[in-house]
Amino acid sequence: MVYDVIVVGGSYAGLSASLQLGRARRKVLVIDAGQRRNRFAESSHGFLGQDGRAPSDIANDAREQLLAYPTVQWLADTALEVVQAADGFQLSTVNGRQVSTRRLIIATGVIDELPAIDGLQARWGKSVFHCPYCHGYELNQGAIGVLATSPMSMHHALLLPDWGPTTFFTNGVFEPDAEQLAELHRRGVTLETRTVSHIGGERADVVLSDGEVISVAGLFAMPRTRMASPLAEQLGCLFEEGPMGAFIQTDAMQQTNVPGVFACGDAALAAGSVAIAVGDGARAGAGTHRSLILG
Ligand code: FAD
Ligand code: MG
Repeated sequence: MVYDVIVVGGSYAGLSASLQLGRARRKVLVIDAGQRRNRFAESSHGFLGQDGRAPSDIANDAREQLLAYPTVQWLADTALEVVQAADGFQLSTVNGRQVSTRRLIIATGVIDELPAIDGLQARWGKSVFHCPYCHGYELNQGAIGVLATSPMSMHHALLLPDWGPTTFFTNGVFEPDAEQLAELHRRGVTLETRTVSHIGGERADVVLSDGEVISVAGLFAMPRTRMASPLAEQLGCLFEEGPMGAFIQTDAMQQTNVPGVFACGDAALAAGSVAIAVGDGARAGAGTHRSLILG
């Protein structure tokens, strides 16, 4: 059996792409490893109509609605390898399945890599975040920290005072010049140049190398991101460099440079969100469907 489309990644982007294809009665297989990027957070914000719901509730409702379409199948597994075949692609999975498809959608997202500071990873999605639009409001205008991870963190430091009084921990990663110091001052940002030893406490107590503690309600840090799956690289897809890491290049209908391979969501975006992943996925679904018919 050859599927019309295999969608690898069954989170917001992949679910949205699959929904368009299931509604066109196409034979779709979704392969999903169940490791959504926002699984560390208790609630998801900023997605219209779903504001404040648990990330898993949003995904589970979408999956239930999707699987009501009889031509859509689900495989809980990890796609390991993909090769081009005569009329499409062949994939193998960790559990030893071999599956064939005419078109492929890569919706596998990214993995966040945080600086190796003790206490940071354990608080990821709880009191340590990267997206102020997602989690800034809930800090109730309490004290905010921005931890520099690159010179790009300057943008973070300038944005965050809209959500609470902000301290910028440069941590030896970045030294603002005179113009940048003036910008930080204009936004009321407190500059902290002592290095960070570790993060402790219930929320985020930033412990400095000299032992002083600066407690914040939320700490924002820009992670580096890398592809969650090797599929795009195996196929020779082109990448673009974003501020946090590489992402898959696509055209206006989400097709990559490899004909028949589409990509959507965080894997194909410089910076994403649930809303953007859902929109990207809907376009990938329609784009893939059109390519099955129009070539
Ligand atoms: P993901 O949701 O990351 O899903 C990718 C899926 O592909 C996963 O299920 C994964 O297991 C699967 N996969 C990967 N590789 C393979 C493989 N080889 N085989 C099979 N399956 C595979 N956004 C918001 O809009 N609001 C928020 O409040 C918010 N909070 C966030 C909190 C945190 C801590 C983080 C890190 C992010 C947050 N985001 C939020 C961003 C949001 O999580 C992402 O933008 C969104 O999840 C992207 O959706 P996606 O479908 O592209 O990828
Ligand atoms: Mg894109």
